[in-house]
This record gives sequence, C-alpha cells and structure tokens, in this order.
Amino acid sequence: MSQIREVKDATNIVEIIGERIKLDSAGINFKACCPFHNEKTPSFFVNPGLQRYRCFGCGANGDTLDFLQNFEGVTFYEALKTLADRAGIALKEFQKSKDDEEREKLIEILSFAKEYYHFLLTKHEVGEEGREYLKNRGTNAESIKIFQLGFATSAWDSLLKYLHQKKKFPLELIEKTGLIIRGRNDSYYDRFRDRLIFPLKNHRGQVVGFSGRLMNQSAKEAKYINSPETVLYHKSKMLYGYSELFREIKKKEQVIVVEGEFDMISSAQAHVNNVVAIKGSALTQDQVTLLARVAKTIILSLDADEAGVKATERAIEIVKTKALDLRVIDLKHLESLSEEDKVKDPDELARENPKIWREAVESAVSAYEFLFNHVIDLHDPKTPDGKRKIINRLAPILESIDHAVEKEFYLQKLSTALNVKESILKEDIAKFGQKKTSLSQEKTAEDESAPMAIKSYQERNEEYLMFLLFSFEPALIKERADSLKDFIFKSRGFKQVIEQLLSYKGTFDLQKFASSLAEDLKRSLMDALLNPEYEKNAKENDLDKEWKAALSRVKKESLRDEIVLINQEISNLDTSLKRTEEEEKKLDQLLTLIVQKQALIKKLG
Ligand code: ZN
Repeated sequence: MSQIREVKDATNIVEIIGERIKLDSAGINFKACCPFHNEKTPSFFVNPGLQRYRCFGCGANGDTLDFLQNFEGVTFYEALKTLADRAGIALKEFQKSKDDEEREKLIEILSFAKEYYHFLLTKHEVGEEGREYLKNRGTNAESIKIFQLGFATSAWDSLLKYLHQKKKFPLELIEKTGLIIRGRNDSYYDRFRDRLIFPLKNHRGQVVGFSGRLMNQSAKEAKYINSPETVLYHKSKMLYGYSELFREIKKKEQVIVVEGEFDMISSAQAHVNNVVAIKGSALTQDQVTLLARVAKTIILSLDADEAGVKATERAIEIVKTKALDLRVIDLKHLESLSEEDKVKDPDELARENPKIWREAVESAVSAYEFLFNHVIDLHDPKTPDGKRKIINRLAPILESIDHAVEKEFYLQKLSTALNVKESILKEDIAKFGQKKTSLSQEKTAEDESAPMAIKSYQERNEEYLMFLLFSFEPALIKERADSLKDFIFKSRGFKQVIEQLLSYKGTFDLQKFASSLAEDLKRSLMDALLNPEYEKNAKENDLDKEWKAALSRVKKESLRDEIVLINQEISNLDTSLKRTEEEEKKLDQLLTLIVQKQALIKKLG
C-alpha cells in the first residue's frame, strides 16, 4: 500500500473539515456554507462514505488532501504531512519538492527563534527587563506561555549566533525568514533588538514571523517593527491570536477584532477570549475570509478616530458578500461608561476593568449605527452645510443596506436627526443608488460561480436513483441494486458501480466500497450522493415510494429511448422499396418489439 493511501485510510474527512469549519449533519452527508466561495445558504457537502466533499455552488470538490491544499493554501506534500502527523504515520518514501524542503527549513528556523526569545524572557537573566515590563503591564504568566512571548537583547548578533553557529543553519536561509538583515559589507545582524517579542503564527499554528515592541519609548525608533513579507509571512493574512484562540472563536461563532497585540492579550485575560488582533486598523478581505470560516459575527473594536471609521466602512463592504453580522464596540457612545473610560483602548479597559470590557462587548452595536453616530458627531446637523455633509457621507452607506426594515429604521433616524423629511432623504439616497448599481452588478457577476455541467432529464433521474439506492439500510442495498442489473444507464460509470456493488462481498460499507472504486467512478457517484436537492426530496418523502417512482421513471425513459432506436432501424428498412423476405420478417419483429415496449411503459404507469 502506498503511503498516500495509508494516510488517507487513517483519516476521516468529516473530522478534518469539521475541525476547520462548522459542519451540520444533513442525512447521509454533512453540509456547510462553502469556504471556497461567498454564499449565505449552504451548498457545500461532505460525504463520509466517499470521503469526499463537493460544492454545488462553485464546483469545488475532492478528497481530504484536495481540501487541505485549497483551504489552507498548502502544497500537496504539506497537506499529506499534516494528515500523516495527525495519524502518527512517518512519511518515508515521499519525495519532497525543493520548495517544500525550503519551507520546512524556514519553519524550523522560525520555531527555534521563538524558543530562543521565549527562553530569554522566561529563564535568562537578560530577560529581567522584559519580565519587569510585562509585570507592570499586568500580562500574566499564562498569557506569556500561551502566546509564547519572548525577549530580544540589545546585542546585534545574539539570535544570529544562536541560529548560525549553534544550530548550523546557513545565513542565506536565515535571511529568508526576515530574522536577520544583510548589512553593507555583507555582514548580517539581528532585525529584532532590545524588544519584547510576539511570535506571529499563521492559521495553522506555525510561527511565520515576529513583531517586536520597544519597552522604552524612544523618539528615534518605531514602537513596533514586524517581520518583512516573506514566503511565509503575509501581513494581509495575519490574525494575531487566531491559532491560539481558534477553538473559542469557533465555539462562540463570534470574534472580536482589536488593533494591537496587547489589546488581544488583555482581552483574553479578561475572559473575552474569542478575540484576534489585526495589527493596524484595516481589516482585509483575506482576514475576513479566515474569520468567516468559523464566526457568524465579527465585532470590531478599533480606534474611534477617522482611521477607525474608514476601516469600519471598508469592513462593511468586505463583509457584505458573506453571511456575517458586523458589529462595533462603540465606547464613545456607550452611556454606561464614564467619560474617562470612553477614550480608553481595549487593552487599558480590559486590564483596569475587565467587567466593563465584557459589558462593552455585549453592547456592541451594528456597524451602521456606529457610523451613523460618528458622522453626526462630526458635523453640525443644524446648519445646511452640516446637513449636506452628513447626507453625503451616510447616503452610500444607507443605500447599501439590503434589509428593508433596517434601511427604513436608519432613514427615520436620520430624518429626525437632521430635521429633514424622509421623502427628501430618500430622493438623495436614490441618486447614490443609481451611481452605484452598475458597480455592484459587475461585482456580483464576478462572484457568480461557473454553472455546473447541465445534465439531461434521464441523467438526473439516474443520479437520484443512485442517491436513493445508497440511502437504504446497508443490508438492503445489494438486493435493491439487483433490479438495476440489466439496466442501460446513460450516466457514465453507473453501470460499473452497480456491477461492482453486486460483486461486493460481506456486509455493505460505503466507505470500503467507495475506496475500491476508480477515481472517475467515485466522482460520478459523488455527484449523485452529495446533491442537496436529492437529499431534500428523499427526506420529505417515503424512501420506498421514492425508489419505486424513480425506478419507473428511469425505466420508462430508457424504454422510450429504445423505441426511438427501433424506429430508426425501421425507417432504414422502409427506404428500400423492395424488401426481401428476410427484411419483412425483421420488420415484423421490430414492430412487435415496439408494441411490447409500449405495453411495458404503460404497465409502469
Ligand atoms: Zn463553493
């Protein structure tokens, strides 16, 4: 047995996908909103028997290895390695590509660096400054451990020596991780010096970069420096805390997005631990995609300055295509807060008054409400100039609200705030709508996925029949399949599937059976078994009745096809004016056949 096969056999696709996105049971399948395209109702199905997934929206399909490659953006080898590690299988015979080999080395270097910084912070005497700093900030030992915080000394080559001289990694390779920088005379030095270190992990939990924070504010240097973009580190995909707090986020189906590392850590310490930091104020499409896999609600807690407001507007746009509720923690307008608390950032608030932070999270308002309040704060709603500015800013936002009742609610609110008639506001807003529609139409056309190959009536009937067949109790399946023994299928592969099914020995087991099928047969079967429409149909009706009805439909259709063929044969005979006796006999036979087949059709009802 090949190792790929061994790994696949030791893996359950439902577990692998279920650990990453929320799967709901749907009869013999599991379903979810597709992680590969934007949708609000689930068309992504996973079949445990076939160990395959299939999206009826965008056509994405495959096995566990395909899923991991597409979902996590990893290579075939990395996907295989992930599954092998999980199953405790050592990959021996697999030939890695050069790229895979290098990435593995880079990950190793970054992991050593993390250990090194963490050791300095927690065990070494040079880390005293860092320990003292964290103590004063109220960062506890548990957080230091969970987030593997570290400390970089002021030396220019401390990490360099450790990685190169002690661990024997080549300089060019260390440089590729962004941990060291090549100086003018080709000598290298450490990027992070005299800083508190935050390891940055990708969503798979691998350290891919670092963020370093100065402990003493100096005018000369930036408070934070980060790893540069590398093959592994991409700032736009980074969600600090995601891999550590992933389970909590998935459990609550809700995530709070804060700006900085300490905001995230302090929030987690205040027991609001479904939180991530985006290291800045701009939430990106990539980050939303990652969050949408596990959360239904995103709660932004960004600075209440203009940058934060702009970021919220952009987030509304990004979130629109997903089935996500976007909310904002609006400290400034939270009446229960003291004036003092209103201007604090999440880090301060969570540290000084965890209870108030938890309440603030509970009181998060819709993103529209947040924008509404801020824009009204910004301009004077009493002056004509102020009114115009407020309308200009809010109109595109109001226009973009899909939900009619919600839209009406904010229109009324705006009408009251500005003391302007609602009908006049509506006109203004409609103007923005006209400007915008062409744009948004383009967008939907782009988002719309390629349609699936169109199947004929008979092919769909056959598929449904297959679906029903495999929905029966295992003990019944072979017996039912027997009635399809001589049937001529239009759909490719079904004949072989039935043949193999009839020769299957022992108690029927879909997973075992499917693994014995060739890839193309598996795919045909998957199309049938993972179709949500069939699922719905079968669920609403009696299985036996459905089976009989479907069987008679495919049989009738097949008989009709046969009649068409016979008629063609007859017309071939007819054209020859003088028929031989033999031909006359043949014609008789064919006509009888037609009568018989028509009688059969009639009998089928
Ligand atoms: Zn899809």
